[in-house]
Amino acid sequence: MKIIVSKVSGFCSGVRRTLKLVWDALERCSGRVYVDGETVHNRLVMQALEDANVKLFRDSDQRCIVPNDCIVTRAHGIPESRYSQLKGCFKNVTDGTCSHVAGVLQLIKHVSGEARDVVIVGNSEHPEVITLVDAARGGKCFVINSAEQVKSLPHDLTRVLLIAQSTIDGELFADVAKAIGEKYSDAEVKNTICGSSRVRQRAILDLAREGVEAIIVVGGKHSSNTTVLVKVARRTGLPVFHIEVAAELPLNELEKFCSIGVATGASTSEEMVREVVDSLREKCVGKRIPNA
Ligand code: SF4
Repeated sequence: MKIIVSKVSGFCSGVRRTLKLVWDALERCSGRVYVDGETVHNRLVMQALEDANVKLFRDSDQRCIVPNDCIVTRAHGIPESRYSQLKGCFKNVTDGTCSHVAGVLQLIKHVSGEARDVVIVGNSEHPEVITLVDAARGGKCFVINSAEQVKSLPHDLTRVLLIAQSTIDGELFADVAKAIGEKYSDAEVKNTICGSSRVRQRAILDLAREGVEAIIVVGGKHSSNTTVLVKVARRTGLPVFHIEVAAELPLNELEKFCSIGVATGASTSEEMVREVVDSLREKCVGKRIPNA
């Protein structure tokens, strides 16, 4: 069996930076270190933080916060009201927002300051989208997740800006952009899918082009970018297996393939990828041609 790891694997730069901020806080903060919500959507990463004594901040914790406690916000961004609330509780708040998301927030604030309306393609319940909607207070803001939903948007929107949640499917965004362009002649389309998500989506297609017979996607089951990668992988028509950890590998099923591609979400560490590759090598490759 040949194992081909996607050209882009391991944490994205935004996740790496936010996690470093948390680990740095553990070193320099003399009090307790908190995170506000899941820093990243990966339960193993969150477990590692918990094991290092990082605490998930809950509103009920407010009464117990002392001056030398610290908090780091998540990579997905945080609404201004929430940031102010944290500032009211903690003397030391570190903004963990990924620089890409921060850039999109600036764009939305600028546009909605001109009372223009914003349409976001994404999941309305995702923390990043909640933060983007919060920033679009100057005009109307709509969140949709299909080209079909463009039909239900009001006709009288003002100079629409169309943007994307950073991790959505590029094909979905292109379909929505086409429908928006047909409905609003003065719409501005900005593809704000981040670089990391774009190259990961492309790298999955490269795996298929290289002739793999099946694709394993490693990443959190509730991670937005990982589930998009699974969707992109399924479009290739190949068998796709979405796992969070090496222990979930369906080794009996995988044995029948001569070559397997391994791709990872943005919140999956290199170490987790190595574990998956090592398990495949140990259980399957020995029986065929070692070529990973
Ligand atoms: S997936 Fe993209 S937007 Fe999200 S943290 Fe990573 S680099 Fe930033």
